[in-house]
Amino acid sequence: MIAFPVEGFGFTVGARLPGRRGRTGTIHTPHGVIQTPAFIAVGTKATVKAVLPESMAELGAQALLANAYHLYLQPGPDIVDAAGGLGRFMNWPGPTFTDSGGFQVLSLGVGHKKVLAMNTAGLAESDVIATGKTRLAHVDDEGVTFTSHLDGSKHRFTPEVSLQIQHQLGADIMFAFDECTTLLNTRGYQEQAVERTHQWARRCLAEHDRLTRERQDQPYQALFAVIQGAQHEDLRRRATRELAELVVDGRSFDGYGIGGALEKENLGAIVGWCCAELPEDKPRHLLGISEPDDFFTAIENGADTFDCVSPSRVARNAALYTPDGRFNVTTAAQRRNFAAVDVDCDCYTCTHYTRAYLHHLFKAREMLASTLATIHNERFIVRLVDNIRASIDRGTFDEFRGEFLGRYYR
Ligand SMILES: [Zn+2]
Repeated sequence: MIAFPVEGFGFTVGARLPGRRGRTGTIHTPHGVIQTPAFIAVGTKATVKAVLPESMAELGAQALLANAYHLYLQPGPDIVDAAGGLGRFMNWPGPTFTDSGGFQVLSLGVGHKKVLAMNTAGLAESDVIATGKTRLAHVDDEGVTFTSHLDGSKHRFTPEVSLQIQHQLGADIMFAFDECTTLLNTRGYQEQAVERTHQWARRCLAEHDRLTRERQDQPYQALFAVIQGAQHEDLRRRATRELAELVVDGRSFDGYGIGGALEKENLGAIVGWCCAELPEDKPRHLLGISEPDDFFTAIENGADTFDCVSPSRVARNAALYTPDGRFNVTTAAQRRNFAAVDVDCDCYTCTHYTRAYLHHLFKAREMLASTLATIHNERFIVRLVDNIRASIDRGTFDEFRGEFLGRYYR
């Protein structure tokens, strides 16, 4: 058992996965504990779309993650601060996370499906992927200037601005502002981004220290670094070591986020490289993950928490998870199917409604369709991760994975 109390924040390691980096644990925050491994549900704009926070609590969600970029643009962090912080504003009493805004600044900020703009100074033209494309977000060593996806207005994020916004939002766990790259960036550019992210991490810690002292009347907010380095092992390991060793004004990071370019094929390797270099006694969050098999891979390689927008996003498109895989409830086969979405599921949707009813709601474009579908999918993923955690405690992780994935992807 390892523990390190930091002003209301701490992490305790529980059981370990023999021969691998996976473990169970408990994250302590001023708003309650998170039993890990844990799935962190996404409530981008301070709401899990279509679902009441009471329903999220009832289905077993332990913590919610909101987005600093979105809440900065709307309603503004000063409003959330004046409301008493993110949890109070959205009526969620449990632990909360905010991401730094780095990812959205570089993706949403330049518009959906457009290439990420880059600082091309010192690089050959062949080193960049954005050649010839309009650049709407500009990265420089100080920060990022971007255009709002809402109204086209100009904004600037720096490490200091991101921390000021996140302190106003008041989540229990925040992330350092990083430069998120894509797999298409060159090795040379990835090296630059890792170096820039490290310099920004240093500035984030300094600003975090200043704001923590300035806002002593507020509950302590933990700050996680974000590790970049894409698919390059040496870059990932070096970035991790440098962030793990970083101390500014006597303060180090409370935990670590693994971010940036990840592909299904190298997810496990990348998480493993980072976790091999990280201290055992601090929590690790994997930023953004999608499918059930990814959860097993991430957990096995040492991730303690991960956020995932998929359960609610696919639910709103009528795609529902079951132990036998995902299906679409709008297909003709479901029209007269009066069974539950998943007969073994204990969620509110499965214990009260049929596939035929959900089929009808989606076909009739009724709002309740999204609500009921989201409740089921969120419960399905929460329960899956709960079961993975229990399997580590019992020493049956490999059996459970074989059984679950064998059936899910059959
Ligand atoms: Zn269900």
